[in-house]
Amino acid sequence: MQNIKIKKLLIGTNNKGKLKEIRNLLPKYIVTFSPSDFNLKSPKENGKTFKENSLIKSRFFSKKSNLVCLADDSGLEIDILKKKPGIYSARWGGKNLDFNKAIERVYKELKKKNKNWKEKKVKARFICALSISNFKKKKVVCVQSKIEGHISNKPKGKNGFGYDPIFIPIKKKLTFGQMKPSEKYKIDHRYKAFKKIKKFL
Ligand code: IMP
Repeated sequence: MQNIKIKKLLIGTNNKGKLKEIRNLLPKYIVTFSPSDFNLKSPKENGKTFKENSLIKSRFFSKKSNLVCLADDSGLEIDILKKKPGIYSARWGGKNLDFNKAIERVYKELKKKNKNWKEKKVKARFICALSISNFKKKKVVCVQSKIEGHISNKPKGKNGFGYDPIFIPIKKKLTFGQMKPSEKYKIDHRYKAFKKIKKFL
């Protein structure tokens, strides 16, 4: 994709937590919009990978709004659950995106897999695929990054969103939910992906 300075950008997510994080990463001169500004609902995410789903969203929102769109698809992979919830991370929260419900499901599945899982370090990682689509110019770019870590024995902290209270990033003692947002933003999967893609903005 050509490196032109983008002044207006649609952030292709209806998830308030992600919207806030992505807005914080962007240069201040960019005027941002969200799908709700155009009354747009999210498209069906029927891709098989984070990258495919990210592209489905950025292409769809760019076409509908006529703006350049930056979209994210992200989620949590837990090794002993065969990388679930993975691309289904949002869906584990049910129709209302209830993150407590999603976390309960993680603990239930871990217990089913191994009664003594709390005695082990259950490896996990957050993945983020970011894509930029410019529908008018038929240009797309897509990158992916991750942060490794493990699952906390119980939910801790009230910051962030989604699975933040149960994820302890590598070399840290606190969950993302316990960290200050400014601390999380500097190390997480979204920030790392953003570093790769920002030259296209
Ligand atoms: P989607 O990309 O909109 O399909 O949803 C991704 C889901 O993954 C979110 O709804 C969260 O449950 C989870 N997720 C992605 N990134 C994060 C994060 O930074 N913290 C906590 N949960 C996340």
